[in-house]
Amino acid sequence: MSSHQRTILIADFELPRGTVGIEQLMAMPRAAWGHLRSQINLRWQQDRSNPLARCRLCEGGVFIRSQATRDGHIPMFAHFPDGSKTCPWYDGGNLHPDDARAAQYQGHQESALHRRLCSTIRELAKADQRHIHSAVDTYLRPAIHKRGRWPDVYLEMEALGRFALEVQLSKPFAPEIAARHLHYDAEDVALLWIFNMLEDPMPQGFHDVITMQRGNAFVFDNEAETASFERGHSHLEMLPEGRPGRMALPQTCHP
Ligand SMILES: [Zn+2]
Repeated sequence: MSSHQRTILIADFELPRGTVGIEQLMAMPRAAWGHLRSQINLRWQQDRSNPLARCRLCEGGVFIRSQATRDGHIPMFAHFPDGSKTCPWYDGGNLHPDDARAAQYQGHQESALHRRLCSTIRELAKADQRHIHSAVDTYLRPAIHKRGRWPDVYLEMEALGRFALEVQLSKPFAPEIAARHLHYDAEDVALLWIFNMLEDPMPQGFHDVITMQRGNAFVFDNEAETASFERGHSHLEMLPEGRPGRMALPQTCHP
């Protein structure tokens, strides 16, 4: 995030909570601000005319933005997208999670690796007899585009069904994990998160993903890539066998 972005310094919550300053928010444990964030979003869904928290200056509705940093997620107040753009604390608009993610990659030397992994995984999928359709380009995502969830790699594999693969090089955006699972569930698309490496110790975001995948971690690293090509492309076996925590796609991971 650029440093010129303005931040809401004080939010007024519905009583009894009252005023919450930015320092106070940032000092909260994750569970506490996570809960507040959910409450705010819930209210926003139910009644936009009556936000749970308002900007001290413009009285527009505010939510808690989870900002990814090197040391984890930091809570910030932000105006809801339709908030007053004339507010001195207006931050220039709130990035859609996908845009935030794209922005993160754009400013990151990881982007080239990310793109390469996505294309490689798609090439492997295309070599599979069951491949019907696939797409990588973020901005050409047809079916799922409507609701703004863009998988890194989208696959349609005959009887296996439809898959959204999220190729995650950095810590996943924890608040997005559950939302994405719910979304793809409703679309009848199986969501799989794929890591290039597993850090040790693992950041919480990775734990969240693995929990959602019933204890499975999917790793597509150099070794897996080599193994996949050696197998002659006949199956989408991306991962070496016999290694704990690594699985083949998609035969053994179809939900
Ligand atoms: Zn404001």
